[in-house]
Amino acid sequence: MYKYCLHCEWQISTADGYTDEEISKRAIDHFVETGHTVDSVRLPPPVVLEN
Ligand SMILES: [Zn+2]
Repeated sequence: MYKYCLHCEWQISTADGYTDEEISKRAIDHFVETGHTVDSVRLPPPVVLEN
């Protein structure tokens, strides 16, 4: 999971070692603290290269 702010540079991702639950909590915290809208993207599965 990847979440990012529509208003500033804030972002968080499972690629940074966070769990989905932590990401959800931190996204809510960011919204509560700043009033910014946080949007989320489900990362697509890795592309399998065919040779
Ligand atoms: Zn923000």
